[in-house]
Amino acid sequence: MKRIYLVPVGEVDPGLLERLAAELAQRFDVPCCVRPTPLSPEFAFESTRNQFLSTAILAELYDRGSPANTRVLGVTAVDLYIPVLTFVFGEAQVNNPCALVSLHRLREEFYGMPPNPELLQQRLLKEAVHELGHTFGLLHCPDYRCVMTSSHSVERLDVKTRKSPLHSVEPYPQHRSPPSGAGLPTAPVVKVNLEQIWLMAFCQMPLVLDTLR
Ligand SMILES: [Zn+2]
Repeated sequence: MKRIYLVPVGEVDPGLLERLAAELAQRFDVPCCVRPTPLSPEFAFESTRNQFLSTAILAELYDRGSPANTRVLGVTAVDLYIPVLTFVFGEAQVNNPCALVSLHRLREEFYGMPPNPELLQQRLLKEAVHELGHTFGLLHCPDYRCVMTSSHSVERLDVKTRKSPLHSVEPYPQHRSPPSGAGLPTAPVVKVNLEQIWLMAFCQMPLVLDTLR
């Protein structure tokens, strides 16, 4: 059955997970539920960095398996890294059914600010849509306002918002995986509301839905 599963990786606030599941179900138009069995991330802990190796957790999620036509998104509160970067908000491989996101640096408290649960939920949703976008074959977008642009700070994550009213975009080519045989579908440049853009993993959402359905 077409479905998105959320897997808690370590201890994660259940209420936050349930709300993320509801939001993702709405955005992707498929059922999304939280798996009851968490994955402990301890095996991926790197003491010299006091962080957890993202790629190792992602591999473990993959080894656990996922039913056909589903996606598995691990959600963790621990700080993630990959060797070439100080940290990562999340990780996914294009067209791999598994992805991973971390709350650790999405919290305002990490930056010495008061807690902001609503902002945390917004950031988590954007990061989740971004990583799930990779699992559906989407690549990074050069437009900093697009949810599929690469983010290395919460400031960059926060500008993936709905502030600008209209934005000209070319819906397909820069977001698609390299063509395999047949040429890319062509689409006209269209005006799209930015709110719809980031909420719907940019304007190639039909491609995403085609993949899952
Ligand atoms: Zn990315």
